[in-house]
Amino acid sequence: GATIGILGGGQLGRMLSIAAARLGLRCHVYDPLANPPAGDVAHAVTTAGYDDTEALRLFADSVDVVTFEFENIPLEAVAVLEALRPVRPGARALEMSQDRLTEKDFLAGLGLATAPYRAVDTLEELEAALAEIGTPAILKTRRMGYDGKGQVRIMAPEEAPQAFAALAGAPGLLEGFVAFEREVSVIAARALDGSVTCYDPGENVHRDGILHTTTLPASLGRGRGTDAVLLAGRILNALDYVGVMGVELFVTASGLVVNEIAPRVHNSGHWTIEACVIDQFAQHIRAVAGWPLGDGSRHSDAVMTNLIGDEAGDWARYAADPATGLHLYGKAEARPGRKMGHVTRISPRR
Ligand code: ATP
Ligand code: MG
Ligand code: MG
Repeated sequence: GATIGILGGGQLGRMLSIAAARLGLRCHVYDPLANPPAGDVAHAVTTAGYDDTEALRLFADSVDVVTFEFENIPLEAVAVLEALRPVRPGARALEMSQDRLTEKDFLAGLGLATAPYRAVDTLEELEAALAEIGTPAILKTRRMGYDGKGQVRIMAPEEAPQAFAALAGAPGLLEGFVAFEREVSVIAARALDGSVTCYDPGENVHRDGILHTTTLPASLGRGRGTDAVLLAGRILNALDYVGVMGVELFVTASGLVVNEIAPRVHNSGHWTIEACVIDQFAQHIRAVAGWPLGDGSRHSDAVMTNLIGDEAGDWARYAADPATGLHLYGKAEARPGRKMGHVTRISPRR
């Protein structure tokens, strides 16, 4: 069988490695940190920085195709790898999604609705942007933010100086606050031959900026559900994308607004492990290995709940529920806000 190279060895890399193993494929994980969660299941692990060109070349030589579980891989590292092996999805999706400004410009360029946004590099630019967009608004760092980190809500124009100070000099993006009814996400996949398949939209609830639950089915009319899936397909086709992508959406009275995209398997797609024959991890491995996509249709209703920090200490309670799929990521230290595992409870499709 072929070997898949995975950049990043967190829980997503771990679940990708498990899916690959089921298909008789091997995984070689590359991560700057020693003992990553994926290391328990991968065939090989390289511990080296993304600036270590020699380690990157040896890694590429040992695999047939490279993918990633993390979108903040330095583009220079991807360029080194791309010269030696196919990288799927490619550098284009990665580059676009590493900066919230280029991502919003790309989405708006496709004619999709986004929150109103302005790039802000100075306090004066922030004040001018607030005057145009109004409050409430959210100031976000353009790069490296996740789980709501690097974001400040601005309720009134007077809060501009303290919000700007919170950016600590990093380039920012001001977004108008979208008064959404609910949040949903679409996990979409595109194969090498251009075929696209989407999982049913899931409804997401966040707590302290971190995904808390994903529920299937989402409370979304049939028309909106179709809109969501078509919109995701347009994004993947525009990027000539290969692999799985997570598309986060706000549902508003006037239609769907794209929040952000993630060029990788996504936390809000973990429910597919229990509720679909081919889950998002198997689907991603199929796509990057050049295999045909599987059927992503859903046979069950599902609620996925993340186990954050100490919550994973309750694992015995979940293990005692026969209808709950329990996933623990093998992380030694349960720091606050850290994703330690998740559970998915399924029930017959209504
Ligand atoms: P992730 O871990 O999903 O990558 P992130 O740090 O990139 O998170 P966002 O997805 O941009 O953060 O925002 C986190 C949450 O904050 C959103 O899911 C939504 O609940 C809320 N939020 C973000 N931007 C807006 C907005 N413009 N209007 C209303 N709510 C927003
Ligand atoms: Mg994000
Ligand atoms: Mg998000």
